[in-house]
Amino acid sequence: MSIPLLQVSGLKKHYPMRSGLLRAGGGTVRAVDGVDFAVARGETLGLVGESGCGKSTVGRLLAKLLAPTSGTICLDGQPIDRLGSRATRDFRRRVQMVFQDPYSSLNPRLTAARIVAEPLLNYGRIPRAELHERLQALFMKVGLRADQMQRYPHEFSGGQRQRVGIARALALSPSLIVCDEPVSALDVSVQAQVINLMMDLQAELGLSYLFIAHDLAVVEHISHRIAVMYLGKIVELADKHRLIGAPQHPYTQALLSAAPVADAAIRRQRIVLSGDVPSPAQPPAGCRFHTRCPHALPRCRSEEPRLRDVAPGHAVACHLAPSTDAAVDPAPA
Ligand code: ADP
Ligand code: MG
Repeated sequence: MSIPLLQVSGLKKHYPMRSGLLRAGGGTVRAVDGVDFAVARGETLGLVGESGCGKSTVGRLLAKLLAPTSGTICLDGQPIDRLGSRATRDFRRRVQMVFQDPYSSLNPRLTAARIVAEPLLNYGRIPRAELHERLQALFMKVGLRADQMQRYPHEFSGGQRQRVGIARALALSPSLIVCDEPVSALDVSVQAQVINLMMDLQAELGLSYLFIAHDLAVVEHISHRIAVMYLGKIVELADKHRLIGAPQHPYTQALLSAAPVADAAIRRQRIVLSGDVPSPAQPPAGCRFHTRCPHALPRCRSEEPRLRDVAPGHAVACHLAPSTDAAVDPAPA
């Protein structure tokens, strides 16, 4: 078996609770509380879940913008926390991020050309004489015109600004782009254009994406597989057709019932979850979802379900999901 591009195991990020909050004595925010997944070369893994469930923290950990509390992240089998300075530099080139709001992530005082050129200049990857040509090629790749290169971020539309952000991410020919809600701030019609651009770029360049969104409908088109997060954990992970066509976790089912997914045939009755998402500083005992789950049993309040395969490539963390053994190999009488 070949090594996946990215392999994440037991990843946790706990933040000390900001002081001045209700409780004195410093609690812990369990933003990411033990997640495992892999991303293959050329693959898009969608990561979805309500606001506050830890998606951005996962993204920032992968890009090495944050250090994990525990767990490991390997790129090409190399743990990224043990890279020397030279390998870290190479890592910074190979893993790039695209953010939700290009307006705040692009320096307003620099022209688009300068913004996209910056990583090339910082990493000394290109002779000055070739820079202009390389920039033109990057602008063309993301569907912008060469005559737009001297514009400032505020002179672009939202979708065009995100194209500038994508061009910057592409400049160093990365292997993985972590996209943190890259289209969430855009109009729906523009969202589709940017997603199609990203899919074209993936086909052309063999890129991998971790594509984060709070909305399943947004990741449906671009993802090969989808992981659903709830309160710092992955509750379900499967091929997108399976996840959308045969979701097993009650939280995935609820998210899907609220999402206008493309396939109308599988539209479901709306499931409205009761209550709010509990605080990641005090996640419920047992299954974290039991306080809002329409099917919770007594067992769910005390025993935490682990993420297990219910079918090849389909993992679910729910006591009620049918087990593979029962489905494939009926127990002898
Ligand atoms: P998402 O992207 O899914 O909305 P985040 O990863 O941004 O979620 O946040 C997960 C949880 O961690 C939230 O409860 C958030 O308030 C908390 N959090 C994020 N960053 C910090 C920080 N620097 N210090 C303390 N808590 C944080
Ligand atoms: Mg976020």
